[in-house]
Amino acid sequence: MEIKKIVKDTNKSLRQVCESVKEPYSKIDLDTCKYLLDYLVFASNDENAEKYNLRPGVGLACPQIGINKRMLAVYIEYPSEDSKESKITKYALINPRLISHSERKAYLLGGEGCLSVDNNHEGYVIRYANITVTGFNILTNKNETIKLRGYEAIVMQHELDHLDGILFYDHIDKKDPFKKIEGALEI
Ligand SMILES: [Zn+2]
Repeated sequence: MEIKKIVKDTNKSLRQVCESVKEPYSKIDLDTCKYLLDYLVFASNDENAEKYNLRPGVGLACPQIGINKRMLAVYIEYPSEDSKESKITKYALINPRLISHSERKAYLLGGEGCLSVDNNHEGYVIRYANITVTGFNILTNKNETIKLRGYEAIVMQHELDHLDGILFYDHIDKKDPFKKIEGALEI
């Protein structure tokens, strides 16, 4: 697999609003979207990560590989204790859009990280606990409506933000980074 360099947050291109992908989707766009997921799968393998010096991640957005188009991938592997097969949640979406969300908020107690961000930014990244997203899923070749909650909703919102030039630390309250939100889901 040919590895593309990850664009870092020192690069202003990560701050741009990405363009929608035009229909009918070209082979190049479909392949690029597939690459986003392939990268996550590839880097989730310890041997690959070590050999190619890759950081594993649960999500990747197209601007992070230097292409400012509205595409993203999510790949979450849940280790299972009792069986050999682990549960996996994966999406590779073109033109994803957040269409609704809960009032309830959610955040990771350990904060968020990003393949494009090398510095540590501590604090809660406040997001919605439940979301509904639409988009063209290249894994099923269909437009889909996807409901996500908790951790998966957080990961998806992180990636959607990239398409609008937003980085996770933008959401951290600078004056009080660990301020608790009443009623929020803490993970
Ligand atoms: Zn990120």
